[in-house]
Amino acid sequence: MATTTTDAVMDYDEVLERFDPVMGLEVHVELSTATKMFCSCATEFGAEPNTQVCPVCLGLPGALPVVNATGVESAIRIGLALNCQIAEWCRFARKNYFYPDMPKNFQTSQYDEPIAFDGYLDVEIPSSTGEGVDVFRVEIERAHMEEDTGKSLHVGGSTGRIHGAEYSLLDYNRAGIPLIEIVTKPVVGAGERMPEVAKAYVSAIRDLMRALDVSDARMEQGSMRCDANVSLMPKGSTQLGTRTETKNVNSLRSVERAVRYEMTRHGAILSGGGSILQETRHWHEDTGVTTSGREKSDAEDYRYFPEPDLVPVAPSREWVEELRATLPEPPGRRRKRLQGEWGYSDLEMRDVVNAGAVELIEASVAAGATPAAARKWWMGEVSRRANDQVRDLADMGVTPEHVAELDGLVRDGRLNDSMARQVMDGVLAGEGSPREVADARGLELVQDDSALEAAVDEVLGRNADIVAKIQDGKVQAAGALIGQVMKAMKGQADAAKVRELILAKCQ
Ligand code: ADP
Ligand code: MG
Ligand code: ZN
Repeated sequence: MATTTTDAVMDYDEVLERFDPVMGLEVHVELSTATKMFCSCATEFGAEPNTQVCPVCLGLPGALPVVNATGVESAIRIGLALNCQIAEWCRFARKNYFYPDMPKNFQTSQYDEPIAFDGYLDVEIPSSTGEGVDVFRVEIERAHMEEDTGKSLHVGGSTGRIHGAEYSLLDYNRAGIPLIEIVTKPVVGAGERMPEVAKAYVSAIRDLMRALDVSDARMEQGSMRCDANVSLMPKGSTQLGTRTETKNVNSLRSVERAVRYEMTRHGAILSGGGSILQETRHWHEDTGVTTSGREKSDAEDYRYFPEPDLVPVAPSREWVEELRATLPEPPGRRRKRLQGEWGYSDLEMRDVVNAGAVELIEASVAAGATPAAARKWWMGEVSRRANDQVRDLADMGVTPEHVAELDGLVRDGRLNDSMARQVMDGVLAGEGSPREVADARGLELVQDDSALEAAVDEVLGRNADIVAKIQDGKVQAAGALIGQVMKAMKGQADAAKVRELILAKCQ
């Protein structure tokens, strides 16, 4: 399928003159439990295909699923962090459909009885006045538990899609990995800032998942995925328009771009008298457009029914309250606190947050680095390399302890700036810790005493009388000379060392 399109789009400002945008975001988060949602298969990312499978996740006849308690615990903690109600009693449901990467022919999910519902998340966007932030509240419809599908690899075509492929390979390692789907209510009232709110919301969800330590929430690896529903209402209308659902938008930036693009595409169709087809669409990062996926009506009949092989989930109120007590400091508040502690400007902090470096800097500071040095290294050399290699900062082979050690070497005067950069090169190249690299590469500032000696000689030459006193044993007289030498060195000398040199030269 072509990734280009000739779809007409309307100027963004014109869209906003004529319409009010509405969006709904569905975010899937893969939990980082050790085992799958309904069996004890491992969940490790990147294993050989089909090595983490069993009769349950392969849907073999007679296999019986068992709920992963940690999965339920994570779901409740996520629900609480999203200010949701937690169901007193809920069930899993079978969502029946056929797809080759789903060997059971149904997905175990939740339908009308989600574990968490009716919440909200406050997200921050840069204020339109240019100073500070505006807070926008996104209402949460529900957060429910389900399982992931397997992965298909379509081989032989030019696009990697099933169309045109010669054959397809299936990997069921991912089938059955716990997912939490977080669904917003229709978001209205953000106007021109809708795409920004979309990005800020997904970013806030990512931060929250990491703070809760329930998922690594990496969009580029697929452990967090977002579908963006968009529609337009004619200005003044309160009746929701027909939506499209753009699938698997896999970076924060694409969330923002995809929402914006769909607004302009809908605008062109609607103002040309056309109507929107309710369908899924695919986002193309390279061309910045969406293309049609499959038609999808609200009444799609998945023949949901309660899962008969699993017991209902009825978390006691005591347990829920225990879990509430484990919630982390809300990310927004935590960010403000850290910014204050580190003394970063708003801009610096925003860059750090966008680079996903908050935790790394926090750990570096805990290991002894100054906040300024921690920011300098993570946001400088390491970020540059990570961007070049399209890798995560945390995967560059540099640890917070490395950063703290390197900063220590600089502050102890063993390394200057350019040497420290060479040491960081070595650490990035896997040559070892900063101290090991500095030793192996023979990097060490030579203490250059020649300037100091010259200053001492010059001062001694000008003060023959005092020199004579010192030679007579009146060592205290050296004090007057030390001051002069320090002045000549503009304070850049160690007074004890100056004294030592003076006394030595007077012998
Ligand atoms: P689906 O089964 O199609 O994925 P969901 O209920 O899981 O449906 O998600 C639909 C999402 O779209 C929700 O976030 C919902 O708030 C949002 N939504 C519903 N109607 C509209 C609309 N007219 N315009 C924009 N978003 C909408
Ligand atoms: Mg959905
Ligand atoms: Zn299994």
